[in-house]
Amino acid sequence: MKPKLRFAPSPTGNLHIGSVRTAIFNWVWAQSLDASLVLRIEDTDLERSKKEFEDNIMEGLDWLGLSFDEGPHQPLNGMKYRQSERINDQAYQPYIDQLLSSGNAYYCFETDDELTAERQAAEDQGIPYVYSRKSLSYSPDEVTKKLDNGTPWTIRFRVPDHAMIIVKDVIRGDISFESKLLSDFIIVRSDGNPTYNFAVVVDDHEMGITHVVRGEDHISNTPRQIMMYDAFGWDVPQFAHLPIILGPDRSKLSKRHGAKSVSEYRDDGFLADALINYLSLLGWSPPDGKELLSREELNDLFDISRINKAGAVFDTVKLTWMNKQYLAKKSDHEILALIHSFVDPKLKKLSDLDRKILSVRDNIETLSQINDYLDVYSRDTTDFFNKFQALPITESDIKVIEYAHAAIAQLSKWDASSVTELMEGAIESLSLGKGKVMKPMRKSMTGDESGPNLIDCLALIPLNEIKARLELVLKHVNSTASN
Ligand code: GLU
Repeated sequence: MKPKLRFAPSPTGNLHIGSVRTAIFNWVWAQSLDASLVLRIEDTDLERSKKEFEDNIMEGLDWLGLSFDEGPHQPLNGMKYRQSERINDQAYQPYIDQLLSSGNAYYCFETDDELTAERQAAEDQGIPYVYSRKSLSYSPDEVTKKLDNGTPWTIRFRVPDHAMIIVKDVIRGDISFESKLLSDFIIVRSDGNPTYNFAVVVDDHEMGITHVVRGEDHISNTPRQIMMYDAFGWDVPQFAHLPIILGPDRSKLSKRHGAKSVSEYRDDGFLADALINYLSLLGWSPPDGKELLSREELNDLFDISRINKAGAVFDTVKLTWMNKQYLAKKSDHEILALIHSFVDPKLKKLSDLDRKILSVRDNIETLSQINDYLDVYSRDTTDFFNKFQALPITESDIKVIEYAHAAIAQLSKWDASSVTELMEGAIESLSLGKGKVMKPMRKSMTGDESGPNLIDCLALIPLNEIKARLELVLKHVNSTASN
Protein backbone atom coordinates (compact mmCIF):
# COMPACT_ATOMS: atom_id res chain seq x y z
CA MET A 1 0.00 0.00 0.00
CA LYS A 2 1.40 3.42 -0.91
CA PRO A 3 2.20 5.29 2.30
CA LYS A 4 -0.10 8.16 3.11
CA LEU A 5 0.00 10.74 5.89
CA ARG A 6 -2.44 13.35 6.97
CA PHE A 7 -2.59 16.66 8.75
CA ALA A 8 -5.94 16.97 10.52
CA PRO A 9 -6.46 20.34 12.18
CA SER A 10 -9.64 21.24 14.07
CA PRO A 11 -10.95 24.65 12.97
CA THR A 12 -11.64 25.78 16.52
CA GLY A 13 -9.03 28.55 16.42
CA ASN A 14 -6.55 30.20 14.08
CA LEU A 15 -3.62 28.15 12.80
CA HIS A 16 -1.14 28.10 15.66
CA ILE A 17 2.49 27.21 15.62
CA GLY A 18 2.00 23.90 17.42
CA SER A 19 -0.25 22.76 14.58
CA VAL A 20 2.17 24.04 11.99
CA ARG A 21 5.00 22.09 13.59
CA THR A 22 2.79 18.96 13.25
CA ALA A 23 2.03 19.88 9.62
CA ILE A 24 5.74 20.34 8.88
CA PHE A 25 6.70 16.94 10.28
CA ASN A 26 3.88 15.29 8.34
CA TRP A 27 4.96 17.07 5.20
CA VAL A 28 8.65 16.31 5.55
CA TRP A 29 8.13 12.68 6.60
CA ALA A 30 5.72 12.22 3.70
CA GLN A 31 8.44 13.44 1.33
CA SER A 32 11.03 11.09 2.76
CA LEU A 33 8.62 8.12 2.52
CA ASP A 34 7.52 9.21 -0.93
CA ALA A 35 4.04 9.22 0.57
CA SER A 36 1.05 11.35 -0.29
CA LEU A 37 -0.26 13.88 2.17
CA VAL A 38 -3.90 14.55 3.03
CA LEU A 39 -5.44 17.64 4.60
CA ARG A 40 -8.52 16.81 6.64
CA ILE A 41 -10.63 19.29 8.53
CA GLU A 42 -11.78 17.80 11.83
CA ASP A 43 -14.89 19.77 12.62
CA THR A 44 -16.98 17.23 14.53
CA ASP A 45 -17.24 19.81 17.31
CA LEU A 46 -19.86 21.74 15.42
CA GLU A 47 -20.21 24.38 18.10
CA ARG A 48 -16.57 25.41 18.36
CA SER A 49 -15.68 24.90 14.70
CA LYS A 50 -15.92 28.03 12.57
CA LYS A 51 -15.54 28.74 8.88
CA GLU A 52 -13.29 31.73 9.63
CA PHE A 53 -10.86 29.45 11.47
CA GLU A 54 -10.86 26.97 8.61
CA ASP A 55 -10.09 29.85 6.22
CA ASN A 56 -7.31 31.03 8.51
CA ILE A 57 -5.81 27.52 8.61
CA MET A 58 -5.98 27.10 4.82
CA GLU A 59 -4.51 30.54 4.17
CA GLY A 60 -1.73 29.92 6.67
CA LEU A 61 -0.78 26.58 5.11
CA ASP A 62 -0.84 28.18 1.70
CA TRP A 63 1.35 31.06 2.81
CA LEU A 64 3.80 28.62 4.37
CA GLY A 65 3.91 26.74 1.08
CA LEU A 66 2.90 23.43 2.65
CA SER A 67 1.10 21.62 -0.10
CA PHE A 68 -1.16 18.59 0.05
CA ASP A 69 -2.01 15.88 -2.43
CA GLU A 70 -5.58 15.49 -1.19
CA GLY A 71 -7.89 17.74 0.77
CA PRO A 72 -11.09 19.80 0.57
CA HIS A 73 -9.77 21.53 -2.54
CA GLN A 74 -8.25 18.43 -4.16
CA PRO A 75 -10.67 15.59 -3.50
CA LEU A 76 -9.76 12.11 -4.69
CA ASN A 77 -12.52 9.81 -5.97
CA GLY A 78 -15.29 11.98 -4.57
CA MET A 79 -13.95 11.78 -1.01
CA LYS A 80 -15.01 14.58 1.38
CA TYR A 81 -12.35 15.91 3.70
CA ARG A 82 -14.44 17.88 6.16
CA GLN A 83 -15.86 15.68 8.88
CA SER A 84 -19.02 17.82 8.98
CA GLU A 85 -19.64 16.96 5.31
CA ARG A 86 -18.98 13.31 6.00
CA ILE A 87 -21.51 13.46 8.83
CA ASN A 88 -24.08 14.94 6.42
CA ASP A 89 -23.34 12.14 3.99
CA GLN A 90 -23.93 9.57 6.75
CA ALA A 91 -20.39 8.31 6.12
CA TYR A 92 -20.01 7.10 9.71
CA GLN A 93 -23.37 5.34 10.04
CA PRO A 94 -22.43 1.96 8.54
CA TYR A 95 -19.47 1.75 10.91
CA ILE A 96 -21.60 2.65 13.92
CA ASP A 97 -24.08 -0.05 12.90
CA GLN A 98 -21.25 -2.52 12.44
CA LEU A 99 -19.87 -1.94 15.96
CA LEU A 100 -23.36 -2.10 17.46
CA SER A 101 -24.20 -5.37 15.76
CA SER A 102 -20.84 -6.97 16.58
CA GLY A 103 -21.32 -6.06 20.24
CA ASN A 104 -18.29 -3.77 20.22
CA ALA A 105 -20.53 -0.80 20.94
CA TYR A 106 -23.77 -0.27 22.82
CA TYR A 107 -26.34 2.40 23.64
CA CYS A 108 -25.91 4.21 26.92
CA PHE A 109 -28.98 5.78 28.53
CA GLU A 110 -27.67 7.30 31.75
CA THR A 111 -28.38 10.97 32.20
CA ASP A 112 -25.63 13.50 32.77
CA ASP A 113 -26.60 13.68 36.44
CA GLU A 114 -26.30 9.93 36.85
CA LEU A 115 -22.91 9.91 35.19
CA THR A 116 -21.71 12.82 37.31
CA ALA A 117 -22.78 10.92 40.45
CA GLU A 118 -20.81 7.86 39.30
CA ARG A 119 -17.78 9.97 38.65
CA GLN A 120 -18.10 11.68 42.02
CA ALA A 121 -18.36 8.33 43.82
CA ALA A 122 -15.11 7.16 42.18
CA GLU A 123 -13.44 10.41 43.13
CA ASP A 124 -14.63 10.07 46.75
CA GLN A 125 -13.09 6.61 46.88
CA GLY A 126 -9.92 7.88 45.24
CA ILE A 127 -10.10 5.40 42.35
CA PRO A 128 -9.85 6.16 38.62
CA TYR A 129 -13.29 6.52 37.10
CA VAL A 130 -14.52 3.94 34.63
CA TYR A 131 -18.11 3.94 33.43
CA SER A 132 -20.27 1.41 35.36
CA ARG A 133 -21.64 -0.26 32.22
CA LYS A 134 -25.12 -0.05 33.67
CA SER A 135 -26.62 0.26 30.17
CA LEU A 136 -24.78 -2.84 29.03
CA SER A 137 -27.10 -4.92 31.19
CA TYR A 138 -30.23 -3.93 29.24
CA SER A 139 -31.70 -6.66 27.05
CA PRO A 140 -32.13 -5.94 23.31
CA ASP A 141 -35.87 -5.50 23.94
CA GLU A 142 -35.27 -2.98 26.69
CA VAL A 143 -32.91 -1.08 24.45
CA THR A 144 -35.44 -1.00 21.61
CA LYS A 145 -38.11 0.18 23.99
CA LYS A 146 -36.00 2.99 25.34
CA LEU A 147 -35.07 4.08 21.84
CA ASP A 148 -38.72 3.95 20.75
CA ASN A 149 -39.68 6.02 23.80
CA GLY A 150 -37.20 8.67 22.77
CA THR A 151 -34.95 8.20 25.83
CA PRO A 152 -31.82 10.26 25.19
CA TRP A 153 -28.78 8.11 24.39
CA THR A 154 -25.15 8.04 23.45
CA ILE A 155 -23.20 5.14 21.98
CA ARG A 156 -20.18 3.78 23.83
CA PHE A 157 -17.38 1.57 22.62
CA ARG A 158 -17.08 -1.60 24.62
CA VAL A 159 -13.47 -1.81 25.79
CA PRO A 160 -12.11 -5.40 25.94
CA ASP A 161 -12.06 -6.63 29.52
CA HIS A 162 -8.51 -7.74 30.20
CA ALA A 163 -6.39 -6.65 27.33
CA MET A 164 -3.07 -4.88 27.17
CA ILE A 165 -3.13 -2.29 24.43
CA ILE A 166 0.29 -1.51 23.04
CA VAL A 167 0.85 1.76 21.22
CA LYS A 168 3.88 1.26 18.98
CA ASP A 169 5.23 4.75 18.65
CA VAL A 170 8.04 5.49 16.22
CA ILE A 171 9.42 8.16 18.52
CA ARG A 172 8.69 6.69 21.94
CA GLY A 173 8.82 2.92 21.45
CA ASP A 174 6.04 0.76 22.92
CA ILE A 175 3.61 2.32 25.39
CA SER A 176 1.25 -0.10 27.18
CA PHE A 177 -2.24 0.63 28.44
CA GLU A 178 -4.37 -1.73 30.53
CA SER A 179 -7.82 -1.89 29.01
CA LYS A 180 -9.50 -2.14 32.39
CA LEU A 181 -8.41 1.42 33.14
CA LEU A 182 -9.87 2.70 29.88
CA SER A 183 -13.50 3.41 30.48
CA ASP A 184 -16.02 2.47 27.74
CA PHE A 185 -15.88 5.74 25.85
CA ILE A 186 -18.50 7.58 23.87
CA ILE A 187 -18.24 7.23 20.10
CA VAL A 188 -21.57 8.86 19.19
CA ARG A 189 -22.83 11.89 21.07
CA SER A 190 -26.42 12.49 22.16
CA ASP A 191 -26.93 14.64 19.01
CA GLY A 192 -26.05 11.61 16.87
CA ASN A 193 -22.66 12.98 15.80
CA PRO A 194 -19.50 10.90 16.04
CA THR A 195 -16.81 11.91 18.52
CA TYR A 196 -13.26 12.70 17.47
CA ASN A 197 -11.87 9.29 18.52
CA PHE A 198 -14.36 7.43 16.38
CA ALA A 199 -14.39 9.72 13.35
CA VAL A 200 -10.61 9.80 13.20
CA VAL A 201 -10.36 5.99 12.98
CA VAL A 202 -13.01 5.71 10.28
CA ASP A 203 -11.48 8.57 8.31
CA ASP A 204 -7.89 7.35 8.62
CA HIS A 205 -9.03 3.93 7.45
CA GLU A 206 -11.20 5.16 4.58
CA MET A 207 -8.54 7.58 3.43
CA GLY A 208 -5.85 4.87 3.52
CA ILE A 209 -3.66 6.57 6.12
CA THR A 210 -0.57 4.51 6.96
CA HIS A 211 1.31 6.92 9.26
CA VAL A 212 -0.13 9.24 11.90
CA VAL A 213 2.00 12.12 13.13
CA ARG A 214 0.48 14.33 15.80
CA GLY A 215 1.19 16.01 19.13
CA GLU A 216 1.87 14.02 22.27
CA ASP A 217 -1.35 15.36 23.79
CA HIS A 218 -3.07 12.69 21.67
CA ILE A 219 -1.21 9.72 23.19
CA SER A 220 -4.07 8.95 25.57
CA ASN A 221 -6.46 8.74 22.60
CA THR A 222 -4.30 6.29 20.72
CA PRO A 223 -5.09 3.07 22.70
CA ARG A 224 -8.79 3.85 22.24
CA GLN A 225 -8.27 4.24 18.52
CA ILE A 226 -6.24 1.01 18.36
CA MET A 227 -9.07 -0.90 20.07
CA MET A 228 -11.42 0.32 17.36
CA TYR A 229 -9.03 -0.69 14.58
CA ASP A 230 -8.91 -4.14 16.20
CA ALA A 231 -12.70 -4.31 16.53
CA PHE A 232 -13.06 -3.56 12.82
CA GLY A 233 -10.19 -5.88 11.90
CA TRP A 234 -8.32 -3.03 10.20
CA ASP A 235 -4.56 -2.45 9.95
CA VAL A 236 -3.29 -0.03 12.58
CA PRO A 237 -1.23 2.85 11.17
CA GLN A 238 2.23 3.69 12.48
CA PHE A 239 2.10 6.39 15.13
CA ALA A 240 4.58 9.16 15.87
CA HIS A 241 3.69 11.50 18.73
CA LEU A 242 5.68 14.70 18.60
CA PRO A 243 7.06 16.23 21.81
CA ILE A 244 5.06 18.94 23.46
CA ILE A 245 6.05 22.56 22.78
CA LEU A 246 6.87 24.48 25.96
CA GLY A 247 7.19 28.14 26.84
CA PRO A 248 10.41 29.43 28.42
CA ASP A 249 9.01 28.56 31.88
CA ARG A 250 8.59 24.96 30.67
CA SER A 251 4.81 25.00 30.92
CA LYS A 252 2.76 24.15 27.83
CA LEU A 253 3.21 26.90 25.24
CA SER A 254 0.32 29.34 25.13
CA LYS A 255 -0.53 32.91 24.15
CA ARG A 256 0.61 33.89 27.62
CA HIS A 257 4.18 33.16 26.47
CA GLY A 258 3.74 35.51 23.53
CA ALA A 259 3.11 32.68 21.06
CA LYS A 260 1.03 33.92 18.14
CA SER A 261 -0.94 32.42 15.33
CA VAL A 262 0.70 32.00 11.95
CA SER A 263 -1.26 34.90 10.47
CA GLU A 264 0.04 37.16 13.25
CA TYR A 265 3.64 36.12 12.56
CA ARG A 266 3.04 36.80 8.87
CA ASP A 267 1.57 40.22 9.66
CA ASP A 268 4.51 41.00 11.92
CA GLY A 269 6.80 40.39 8.98
CA PHE A 270 8.21 36.94 9.61
CA LEU A 271 9.11 34.98 6.48
CA ALA A 272 7.50 31.62 5.81
CA ASP A 273 10.91 30.00 5.24
CA ALA A 274 12.19 31.22 8.59
CA LEU A 275 9.10 29.98 10.41
CA ILE A 276 9.34 26.56 8.74
CA ASN A 277 13.05 26.33 9.54
CA TYR A 278 12.60 27.37 13.16
CA LEU A 279 9.62 25.11 13.84
CA SER A 280 11.34 22.11 12.23
CA LEU A 281 13.96 22.36 14.96
CA LEU A 282 11.40 22.10 17.76
CA GLY A 283 11.99 18.50 18.75
CA TRP A 284 14.26 17.54 15.86
CA SER A 285 17.80 18.35 14.76
CA PRO A 286 19.99 17.22 11.86
CA PRO A 287 23.07 15.10 12.71
CA ASP A 288 25.52 17.99 12.32
CA GLY A 289 23.43 20.34 14.45
CA LYS A 290 23.17 22.87 11.60
CA GLU A 291 20.47 25.41 12.29
CA LEU A 292 19.84 27.32 9.10
CA LEU A 293 18.22 24.79 6.78
CA SER A 294 16.50 25.44 3.50
CA ARG A 295 13.42 23.37 2.70
CA GLU A 296 15.59 21.19 0.44
CA GLU A 297 18.13 20.60 3.20
CA LEU A 298 15.34 19.83 5.64
CA ASN A 299 13.97 17.26 3.22
CA ASP A 300 17.39 15.73 2.61
CA LEU A 301 18.38 15.56 6.26
CA PHE A 302 15.08 14.63 7.86
CA ASP A 303 15.07 11.36 9.74
CA ILE A 304 12.11 10.55 11.99
CA SER A 305 14.39 8.66 14.38
CA ARG A 306 16.07 11.95 15.29
CA ILE A 307 12.89 13.37 16.83
CA ASN A 308 13.21 13.68 20.62
CA LYS A 309 10.76 12.71 23.29
CA ALA A 310 11.59 15.66 25.51
CA GLY A 311 9.50 18.82 25.31
CA ALA A 312 10.86 21.52 23.01
CA VAL A 313 11.08 25.11 24.22
CA PHE A 314 9.75 27.80 21.89
CA ASP A 315 12.02 30.81 21.92
CA THR A 316 10.77 33.97 20.24
CA VAL A 317 14.25 35.52 20.38
CA LYS A 318 15.71 32.61 18.43
CA LEU A 319 12.89 32.71 15.88
CA THR A 320 13.44 36.45 15.43
CA TRP A 321 17.18 35.91 15.02
CA MET A 322 16.49 33.28 12.40
CA ASN A 323 14.11 35.60 10.55
CA LYS A 324 16.88 38.20 10.40
CA GLN A 325 19.22 35.63 8.83
CA TYR A 326 16.62 34.91 6.15
CA LEU A 327 16.09 38.61 5.50
CA ALA A 328 19.85 39.06 5.13
CA LYS A 329 19.88 36.53 2.30
CA LYS A 330 17.36 38.50 0.24
CA SER A 331 18.51 40.79 -2.55
CA ASP A 332 17.67 44.51 -2.32
CA HIS A 333 15.06 43.95 -4.98
CA GLU A 334 13.42 41.16 -2.98
CA ILE A 335 13.50 43.20 0.23
CA LEU A 336 11.73 46.10 -1.47
CA ALA A 337 9.09 43.81 -2.93
CA LEU A 338 8.46 42.21 0.46
CA ILE A 339 8.52 45.32 2.57
CA HIS A 340 6.33 47.82 0.76
CA SER A 341 3.06 46.49 2.16
CA PHE A 342 4.46 46.89 5.70
CA VAL A 343 5.31 50.58 5.36
CA ASP A 344 2.88 52.87 7.20
CA PRO A 345 0.87 55.00 4.78
CA LYS A 346 2.27 58.17 6.32
CA LEU A 347 5.85 56.99 5.72
CA LYS A 348 5.06 56.04 2.14
CA LYS A 349 5.24 59.75 1.30
CA LEU A 350 8.93 60.00 2.20
CA SER A 351 11.17 61.10 -0.63
CA ASP A 352 13.72 58.52 -1.80
CA LEU A 353 11.69 55.86 0.01
CA ASP A 354 13.48 52.89 -1.53
CA ARG A 355 16.92 54.24 -0.67
CA LYS A 356 15.74 54.93 2.85
CA ILE A 357 14.38 51.41 3.18
CA LEU A 358 17.62 49.94 1.90
CA SER A 359 19.66 52.09 4.29
CA VAL A 360 18.04 50.25 7.21
CA ARG A 361 17.50 46.80 5.69
CA ASP A 362 20.38 45.29 7.66
CA ASN A 363 18.87 46.45 10.93
CA ILE A 364 15.42 44.96 10.73
CA GLU A 365 14.63 41.56 12.21
CA THR A 366 11.04 41.46 10.98
CA LEU A 367 9.51 43.34 8.04
CA SER A 368 7.15 45.35 10.24
CA GLN A 369 10.11 46.87 12.09
CA ILE A 370 10.69 48.96 8.98
CA ASN A 371 8.43 51.65 10.41
CA ASP A 372 10.51 52.04 13.57
CA TYR A 373 13.64 52.39 11.48
CA LEU A 374 12.13 54.78 8.93
CA ASP A 375 11.06 57.03 11.78
CA VAL A 376 14.47 58.72 11.68
CA TYR A 377 13.59 60.06 8.22
CA SER A 378 10.15 61.31 9.12
CA ARG A 379 11.22 63.87 11.74
CA ASP A 380 10.99 67.58 11.17
CA THR A 381 13.35 69.97 12.95
CA THR A 382 11.08 70.27 15.98
CA ASP A 383 10.63 66.48 16.36
CA PHE A 384 14.37 66.10 16.07
CA PHE A 385 15.09 68.77 18.66
CA ASN A 386 12.65 67.31 21.17
CA LYS A 387 14.47 64.01 20.94
CA PHE A 388 17.89 65.59 21.04
CA GLN A 389 17.16 67.51 24.24
CA ALA A 390 16.57 64.26 26.09
CA LEU A 391 20.01 62.87 25.20
CA PRO A 392 23.12 63.01 27.40
CA ILE A 393 25.84 65.21 25.91
CA THR A 394 29.48 65.15 27.03
CA GLU A 395 32.26 67.73 26.71
CA SER A 396 33.83 65.65 23.98
CA ASP A 397 30.48 65.47 22.15
CA ILE A 398 30.34 69.27 22.15
CA LYS A 399 33.74 69.45 20.48
CA VAL A 400 32.55 67.15 17.70
CA ILE A 401 29.32 69.11 17.29
CA GLU A 402 31.25 72.37 17.02
CA TYR A 403 33.58 70.84 14.47
CA ALA A 404 30.69 69.47 12.41
CA HIS A 405 28.80 72.76 12.58
CA ALA A 406 31.77 74.70 11.26
CA ALA A 407 32.69 72.15 8.59
CA ILE A 408 29.17 71.71 7.30
CA ALA A 409 28.56 75.44 7.09
CA GLN A 410 31.07 75.43 4.18
CA LEU A 411 29.33 72.66 2.28
CA SER A 412 26.92 72.96 -0.59
CA LYS A 413 26.89 69.29 -1.55
CA TRP A 414 25.87 66.48 0.82
CA ASP A 415 26.18 62.81 0.06
CA ALA A 416 27.81 59.67 1.46
CA SER A 417 31.30 60.81 0.52
CA SER A 418 30.84 64.23 2.15
CA VAL A 419 29.61 62.50 5.33
CA THR A 420 32.66 60.21 5.25
CA GLU A 421 35.01 63.17 4.77
CA LEU A 422 33.38 65.02 7.62
CA MET A 423 33.88 62.08 9.94
CA GLU A 424 37.45 61.47 8.92
CA GLY A 425 38.20 65.17 9.32
CA ALA A 426 36.77 65.15 12.85
CA ILE A 427 38.68 62.03 13.84
CA GLU A 428 41.91 63.57 12.66
CA SER A 429 41.54 67.15 13.85
CA LEU A 430 40.12 66.26 17.25
CA SER A 431 42.29 63.14 17.73
CA LEU A 432 39.27 61.13 18.73
CA GLY A 433 38.37 57.51 18.07
CA LYS A 434 35.71 56.65 15.49
CA GLY A 435 33.06 55.88 18.11
CA LYS A 436 33.66 59.16 19.88
CA VAL A 437 32.95 60.99 16.64
CA MET A 438 30.09 58.95 15.29
CA LYS A 439 28.01 58.96 18.45
CA PRO A 440 27.72 62.74 18.82
CA MET A 441 27.20 63.10 15.09
CA ARG A 442 24.29 60.70 15.25
CA LYS A 443 22.85 62.44 18.30
CA SER A 444 23.22 65.95 16.93
CA MET A 445 21.94 65.19 13.43
CA THR A 446 19.27 62.51 13.97
CA GLY A 447 18.23 62.80 17.63
CA ASP A 448 18.98 59.10 18.19
CA GLU A 449 21.73 57.43 20.17
CA SER A 450 21.85 54.37 17.97
CA GLY A 451 20.42 53.40 14.62
CA PRO A 452 21.21 52.30 11.08
CA ASN A 453 24.44 52.78 9.15
CA LEU A 454 25.29 56.39 9.97
CA ILE A 455 26.85 57.39 6.66
CA ASP A 456 23.89 56.16 4.60
CA CYS A 457 21.47 57.62 7.08
CA LEU A 458 22.95 61.13 7.30
CA ALA A 459 23.38 61.29 3.53
CA LEU A 460 19.62 60.80 3.21
CA ILE A 461 18.78 63.82 5.38
CA PRO A 462 18.82 67.05 3.31
CA LEU A 463 21.79 69.36 3.89
CA ASN A 464 19.65 72.37 4.86
CA GLU A 465 17.91 70.25 7.50
CA ILE A 466 21.28 69.08 8.86
CA LYS A 467 22.41 72.71 9.02
CA ALA A 468 19.24 73.77 10.81
CA ARG A 469 19.62 70.95 13.33
CA LEU A 470 23.25 71.76 14.10
CA GLU A 471 22.37 75.42 14.51
CA LEU A 472 19.74 74.60 17.13
CA VAL A 473 21.94 72.04 18.84
CA LEU A 474 24.81 74.42 19.17
CA LYS A 475 22.64 77.14 20.64
CA HIS A 476 21.21 74.63 23.06
CA VAL A 477 24.54 73.24 24.27
CA ASN A 478 26.00 76.70 24.62
CA SER A 479 23.04 77.94 26.64
CA THR A 480 23.00 74.87 28.90
CA ALA A 481 26.79 75.08 29.34
CA SER A 482 26.64 78.75 30.38
CA ASN A 483 23.82 78.16 32.90
N1 GLU B 1 -7.90 17.31 15.08
C1 GLU B 1 -6.88 16.98 16.02
C2 GLU B 1 -6.23 18.26 16.53
O1 GLU B 1 -6.36 19.29 15.91
C3 GLU B 1 -5.78 16.14 15.43
C4 GLU B 1 -6.11 14.72 15.58
C5 GLU B 1 -5.16 13.76 14.99
O2 GLU B 1 -4.15 14.15 14.39
O3 GLU B 1 -5.45 12.59 15.12
O4 GLU B 1 -5.60 18.22 17.56
